[in-house]
Amino acid sequence: MKKIGVYTSGGDAPGMNACVRAVVRTAIYNGLEVVGIRRGYQGMIDSDFDRMETRSVANIIQRGGTILKTARCEEFRTPEGRAKAAINLKNAGIEGLVCIGGNGSYAGALALYNEHQIPTIGLPGTIDNDLYGTDYTIGYDTAINTAVDAIDKIRDTADSHNRVFLVEVMGRDAGFIGISVGISGGAEGIFIPEQEGEMDKIIEHFDHTERRTKAFSIIVVAEGDEYGGATALHNVLKDRYPDLNVRTTILGHIQRGGSPTAQDRVLASRLGYEAVLALLRGEGSKAVGIERGNVVLTSFEDAIGKRKKVDQDLITMAEVLAR
Ligand code: ATP
Repeated sequence: MKKIGVYTSGGDAPGMNACVRAVVRTAIYNGLEVVGIRRGYQGMIDSDFDRMETRSVANIIQRGGTILKTARCEEFRTPEGRAKAAINLKNAGIEGLVCIGGNGSYAGALALYNEHQIPTIGLPGTIDNDLYGTDYTIGYDTAINTAVDAIDKIRDTADSHNRVFLVEVMGRDAGFIGISVGISGGAEGIFIPEQEGEMDKIIEHFDHTERRTKAFSIIVVAEGDEYGGATALHNVLKDRYPDLNVRTTILGHIQRGGSPTAQDRVLASRLGYEAVLALLRGEGSKAVGIERGNVVLTSFEDAIGKRKKVDQDLITMAEVLAR
């Protein structure tokens, strides 16, 4: 293998740049040429390629977002779109790929591998931490720290006015962000997709009038909880407790931005490095992750098809600590 391509795809995540940097520098160190593919699969279809040098990734380790940009690309979901991409890659002499993205990006890489035999190594780049085959995804640590920082600030104002604050965090299908932010933000309630019945505890809590009127509370709500997010939950609470001084904050995309934490930079660097070594060993169609401190390779089929679960012990612990 003489030339590889690297791309970021799906939702951006802090640490993607640190990962691109690691891929580029490891590849060059090992005598490979590296091409940056801009805007993910769209860039593959449009031949939006750019040769990368050691210096092209200088001064990006601390930057959020992705210098390669990212995109969602409907055309790549079709065999014709993927055939176009494969021709462009072959014409550019690209013999292997590193894909930094989430579940959908892995699905695209698997299809490209099955149909056109282009070896691809996937790296988990998503703030949601919902990918099988790795304990943590790139961007998750930064996202939860951003959210906790916001909660600490909300706490100050909630305390001053004896208000109840519902804070919505990202997580349409998974509660990893919700549970971590809830625990570290000291929340009284945590609503995540994996858990039903949280409302019973909230009712038990707020049925005490003094807790509604004389104390403040922080409740963390994932977008995909059983009520469908913080705004819906706000309405449910107001209907039941008209005297409740409740405010809702949706953290939204600020969770995606910002400078990656040291932990995300180390994770991204390590995964980027390992991805290139895996390609050089002749691997393809696999995702690299870190489990219990060790580098592990997982087939794309498993990484896409299997589900990583929020630790039930954490949910139980959160309930105890919120009392
Ligand atoms: P995030 O977790 O941040 O949403 P993601 O990688 O899951 O990231 P998606 O939008 O699901 O993001 O996928 C990114 C791109 O991958 C899509 O825009 C599409 O081009 C491609 N893709 C997704 N699923 C498939 C599939 N089944 N077959 C081919 N390509 C796919």
